Amino acid sequence: MKRVLLNVDKYQYDIHSLFKAFWGNEDVKVVIALDSVSYDSNEDLGDGDEDFFAKVGIISDKESEQGVFGKILVCVFPDIREEISFFDSDNTGKEDSASTSGAVTELDTSKNAVKKAIYLGLKKATGKELPWGNLTGIRPTRIAMNLIDKGRTDEEIADYMKNTYFVSNEKTSLSIAIARREKEILKDIDYENGYSLYIGIPFCPTTCLYCSFTSYPIGAYSKLVDDYIGCLEKEIDYVADNFKDKTLDTIYIGGGTPTTLEPHQLERLIGYVKEKLDTSCVKEFTVESGRPDSITRQKLQTMHRMGVDRISVNPQTMRDETLRLIVRRHTVSQLIDSFKMAREEGFDNINMDIILGLPGETAEDVRYTIEEIKKLGPDDLTVHSLAIKRGSKLAEVLHEKELRGELKVPILESINNTEEMMSIAARGAADMGLTPYYLYRQKNISGNFENTGYARKGKAGIYNILINEEVQSIVALGAGTVTKRVYGNGRIERCDNVKDIKLYMDNLQEMIDRKNILFK
Ligand code: SF4
Repeated sequence: MKRVLLNVDKYQYDIHSLFKAFWGNEDVKVVIALDSVSYDSNEDLGDGDEDFFAKVGIISDKESEQGVFGKILVCVFPDIREEISFFDSDNTGKEDSASTSGAVTELDTSKNAVKKAIYLGLKKATGKELPWGNLTGIRPTRIAMNLIDKGRTDEEIADYMKNTYFVSNEKTSLSIAIARREKEILKDIDYENGYSLYIGIPFCPTTCLYCSFTSYPIGAYSKLVDDYIGCLEKEIDYVADNFKDKTLDTIYIGGGTPTTLEPHQLERLIGYVKEKLDTSCVKEFTVESGRPDSITRQKLQTMHRMGVDRISVNPQTMRDETLRLIVRRHTVSQLIDSFKMAREEGFDNINMDIILGLPGETAEDVRYTIEEIKKLGPDDLTVHSLAIKRGSKLAEVLHEKELRGELKVPILESINNTEEMMSIAARGAADMGLTPYYLYRQKNISGNFENTGYARKGKAGIYNILINEEVQSIVALGAGTVTKRVYGNGRIERCDNVKDIKLYMDNLQEMIDRKNILFK
């Protein structure tokens, strides 16, 4: 356990995320101690790992008419000190004045100064540099996007990202390139008068051990599916009544695994969407068909006939041994057959997801996976970094396997993504003619890595960018989904549908009422 003392009641989340970025496999606790601790020295840091490990203090605040001047002092066990001055014009430190003005300010806000001082302290303590520096948010391309909108040059944006957040040259260039590509892809989307539709199908053939989504095994829940679709139809009725004046830009049926539905159920659902909503302006209609063990020729034919133009068939890895380990109950050969079948049935935009850092996998396994995927030639490749939490079901299973001597490498090493793996995937995508078009980061991943979507020209997933950049409202239907209203000034409000499928079905009107209130 890494325990961090803090003398103010703010920034805990950012501080926690930053420590986790250096020690992803450790528990980190940020403890607020307002009194009785001296924050201007390394005293009282106890025994490091067993006691308080670091202190973050905002000291010597000085208020003036213009704002608050102060100093951040970060002490890391046993003898590291970092000190950075700040100026908060609005007395909150919340606004990143530099990112809104686009210029590098002489003094950081208190929030930026806290993150800078911690980053520099932890860099010294560990000897590590993080590719994303001290950026803890999940959307780094947002910063580049904002500055592009303000007319900044690539050079100015790069300087800002490096000086303020210590982002590496490589990630800086990647962020700017993606932000410019996203702007180009979204140039025909009317953010204010358009919307996107998400429909969640929370069933899967079986539950993968690392799953963090709403997912119920179809075998045990198949009797509920028709009624569940009935609930979705009522939500679609709500959309039909309330979004008549808006343009539907993209449709995304995700989950779970939508292709656990039988062909007639897919036909019923997609048919209802098309009957009730004006889909004449839809630019992209995706159905996640992630698990190859749920795909049949008849389902592919149904989806293609009904206008679905983008699907995903997800290997995660091309090693059968790893698929077994993570209890993803399909084989590599099933994946290859499903992909080929989808091509035969006319799908010319197929995404594949892979995960880096899967248990027991080395850079060599990633290289193998990429080479096998190259043979299939997907149009879109999404590269995820896996974060396995201690105490999770997968971590427990892995620990048992480790005790039995069944893991190739120790557990903590076996679940880490690495720069080398990221580079192998990026080079592989480039070899396939795919360029990066969106990226986002997950919370608390060791190594502070990102998930990146690569696509062939003209095949980028528009919905992926819209949800990632949060520039358009998304109406989400089904259990465990989150609807997002994006206002013209960038303000965002959300409402969610409950995750429990029975609660969702029993309280459907309440879910619809929540949307009614949100879009009033
Ligand atoms: S296929 Fe995806 S949603 Fe379904 S159990 Fe596996 S990880 Fe979860």
